[in-house]
Amino acid sequence: MIEDKVYTARSILVVGAHAFDAEVIAGPLAAAAVRGGAAVTFLHLTMGEQGHPCLIPEHYCVQKEAEAAKAAAQLGVGMRTFKLNDAFLPADDETALRVCDVIRELKPEIVITHWHGSWHKDHRAAAQLTQTGIFFAALPTIARKHPAHTPQLLLFGENWEDDDGFRPEHLIDVSDGFDIWSEAVKEYELARGLSSFPYVDYYSALYRLRGCLRGTRHAQGFAAASHSWNAGSGLFAPPAERKRGR
Ligand SMILES: [Zn+2]
Repeated sequence: MIEDKVYTARSILVVGAHAFDAEVIAGPLAAAAVRGGAAVTFLHLTMGEQGHPCLIPEHYCVQKEAEAAKAAAQLGVGMRTFKLNDAFLPADDETALRVCDVIRELKPEIVITHWHGSWHKDHRAAAQLTQTGIFFAALPTIARKHPAHTPQLLLFGENWEDDDGFRPEHLIDVSDGFDIWSEAVKEYELARGLSSFPYVDYYSALYRLRGCLRGTRHAQGFAAASHSWNAGSGLFAPPAERKRGR
């Protein structure tokens, strides 16, 4: 079961296009996993510095970095950021190699990122960069600072901007992390009413709705990668015979 795999992982990496994306696609899950003893890291590819109606991007970038650090501390997760340019996130091999390096260094069993069906170009880029980063990380012939590493599972989290074709195939109980998430996201001005979109109302209701269907107080929905992609990148489950050591 996917939920068992997630909560027995020792290391989980969540890759978001903008600071605040990792928090919504996997924040409650991250807090619950940390309570269970996992090391969780949020990688913010950009700080999302273009999103303030009054502040110039340079100033909002500083503010968001501080907000992200405080939210990460409350959730108990580690934080990395590439500080690439918001709205101009490049979906290229050079950036995917940087994601590869983080995967090889942290050795996550589980990687979570955006669903590719998004109206936002940076979210589509983040999905592509993460998949390519896993592909590069698993290839032993690509020489980098750290040796090759293959995660066991790639999941795509639920984000209101990534709704084109998204199906929540897997519902994961995040009841243990919801209250921590609720407090942590308040560190962001974005969650306190900066945007016309009511983020906290939307996600609080969504996690409760998913929980109703999961039979728990709160849950998060995830989609998985295709069977062919899992097989090609080495993420498929080993055959039962191999697991039994035959
Ligand atoms: Zn975003």
